[in-house]
Amino acid sequence: MSELKQQLYKELAIKNEASVEGIAVNPAIFRDLDLGGAYQEQVHTLFEMDHEQHDDIAFPCGFESPNGLKIPFQWDSKSDYSITLEDGGYFLNKRDKHLFPIDFFKRPDYYRNSTADGTRMSTIAPYNQEGSIISAYSNECALKDKGEDCLFCNANATKDTYAEKEGIFWKNPQQIGETVAAAYREGARHVTLTGGFIPERREVDYYLDVAEAIQNHTGLDDFNGTAVIGAPRDLKVIDKYKEAGFRTLAINIECWDKNYFKTICPGKVSNCGSWEHWIEAIEYAASVFGHGRVRSGIVAGIEPKEKTLEGIEYFASKGVITLTGAWCANPGSALEGHRTPEPAWHFDLAKKAAAIARKAGFSYEQLYDTAPSPTFLVHDIYKIEDGLLPASVTKP
Ligand code: SF4
Repeated sequence: MSELKQQLYKELAIKNEASVEGIAVNPAIFRDLDLGGAYQEQVHTLFEMDHEQHDDIAFPCGFESPNGLKIPFQWDSKSDYSITLEDGGYFLNKRDKHLFPIDFFKRPDYYRNSTADGTRMSTIAPYNQEGSIISAYSNECALKDKGEDCLFCNANATKDTYAEKEGIFWKNPQQIGETVAAAYREGARHVTLTGGFIPERREVDYYLDVAEAIQNHTGLDDFNGTAVIGAPRDLKVIDKYKEAGFRTLAINIECWDKNYFKTICPGKVSNCGSWEHWIEAIEYAASVFGHGRVRSGIVAGIEPKEKTLEGIEYFASKGVITLTGAWCANPGSALEGHRTPEPAWHFDLAKKAAAIARKAGFSYEQLYDTAPSPTFLVHDIYKIEDGLLPASVTKP
């Protein structure tokens, strides 16, 4: 293995650990950081990913490792990882020992713009790095009405804490079309459309209107969009997303084991149908969208690892990509106070998931096109192995 590759894997191990454990910080160090000016601030459009709520403190979204891996900033005041400010520069540390100097993510220019109705574009479609943006059309989930939220999810708690303060509301298709067009003019090239469940499952009509608005504003028939949906009762509805111009579709099973699924996602079962129906919907979507153009997500660390790997293998055999983000026991979720597995557990799973994806023939572009952000560990492993990082080009 080349020296650079070894170094990149070291940085990836740090990224994994700092993401799983979170990062401690004295918020005062951000006083002089130009957050909301030169640097990208967190905007809570759907989920709080910090391990503690912080409605009166602004935080940056993340930073880069020396060789270009994107590391999210997720606050945890008890973590061994920390960021400090010394002599005007920021450092990532572990147990008070410097690991490397860091530079926070730059703020994209379209964040300075507003839509025609005066809404800040940063609240419509936040930037998720490397040309990927995400828009949560609704910032709440109707499953709460029956107390059936997914147990790991804090969408409704996030709304209660941040929505009013940050000006986050439901989005209309016009606002999303304008914002996607502005971001694309600046070089963005993928948009994920997501959100909580809405009453009466009216999302298909809404998604179709959004697709049309994006097409009108960008002038692109294929705007490289991913629609994130719940399994529709009538599978034929899936065809409509394809016809509307979405390139990829995401249907998140969250847990592969059917008993875990039923326990962790009660509302997904009562609103959409059984585990079997979800699997049928995902496989049907793959037949409509094609190999490598459908994604399912599993929240890694809730069920045993071998169950998750079984699911990743199964989906891969059907041409479906599985993304496994490390579960964080989010504040405001029903599982708050639980613990995710150790970082090494997550790193091992990510390496195995990347090997399965490679064996199934999924390309980096397919992983990119189906993901809400191209910075999962599986993306990084592809980037390292395929020499896709700027460091690999300048230092082969
Ligand atoms: S469907 Fe589940 S994961 Fe999605 S927003 Fe609702 S509660 Fe959260």
